[in-house]
Amino acid sequence: GGYQWEVDPEELTLGEELGSGQFGLVLEGRWREMKVAVKMIREECMSDEDFKEEARVMMRLSHYKLVQLYGVCTQHSPMCLVFEFMENGCLSDYLRDRKGRLSQDVMLGMCLDVSDGMAYLESSNFIHRDLAARNCLVSKNNEVKVSDFGMTRFVLDDQYTSSQCSKFPVKWSAPEVIKFCKFSSKSDVWSFGVLMWEVYNEGRLPYENRSNAEVVESLNTGLRLLKPRLAPDAVYLLMEWCWKEKPDDRPSFALLLHELASLSDL
Ligand code: ADP
Repeated sequence: GGYQWEVDPEELTLGEELGSGQFGLVLEGRWREMKVAVKMIREECMSDEDFKEEARVMMRLSHYKLVQLYGVCTQHSPMCLVFEFMENGCLSDYLRDRKGRLSQDVMLGMCLDVSDGMAYLESSNFIHRDLAARNCLVSKNNEVKVSDFGMTRFVLDDQYTSSQCSKFPVKWSAPEVIKFCKFSSKSDVWSFGVLMWEVYNEGRLPYENRSNAEVVESLNTGLRLLKPRLAPDAVYLLMEWCWKEKPDDRPSFALLLHELASLSDL
């Protein structure tokens, strides 16, 4: 022990199950008078030693539009990660539950929240690698925050980490990621375009009835996701900008934040 990011198991109380993810169960908990979410890490799912090193970096990332990592409890077996608690769960479920009741302001606000958090990650030179509505969470005050940044690097399941495999998020991935695993903030921007599409389609899955192979094929011929019925032209233009073939032709998150903010002032 003795590390700053080490959570003392004595201070952590575990409660009910919230869900389960790639690394194992997620439980509700209490830590230092705060409600927290605790991810229990199944040993066979994560490269532990690498992660402990990286947890230091992740804990230094702190922004009101990122789900905060408070600390890591390595003395507990299984190891667990302690996060800020997000009352309203993941964004994709939140959208589906409110289908037909989301105003334009609310949808634009969600995109703004995410671009704000992502602009911070971009300025910190930190690549998310798995940005999607399922990896954003919604707070008690209905703010959207970015979660799970950088975590896919520690997943040991090949099915998830190889672009050829079934669990790889091909439908959110930029072409250079699918072809060469070339991740960058600009590949995050591509994923952000897909996330905007999810928001304006009220949580529908992109390319619903198509296989990964079919999606790759149609992207190669220059086809893109269609304009959601609820998306204003100006918003769809931003999506299309995120889906430029060449990473350099895509906007930065700083610019997206600026553009989205100017739309919300109208
Ligand atoms: P993973 O990314 O490891 O696959 P998730 O982050 O998707 O796991 O977590 C699984 C579920 O646990 C989520 O769908 C959500 O309902 C719940 N959850 C995760 N993190 C939090 C949190 N910080 N606050 C509240 N609920 C959470």
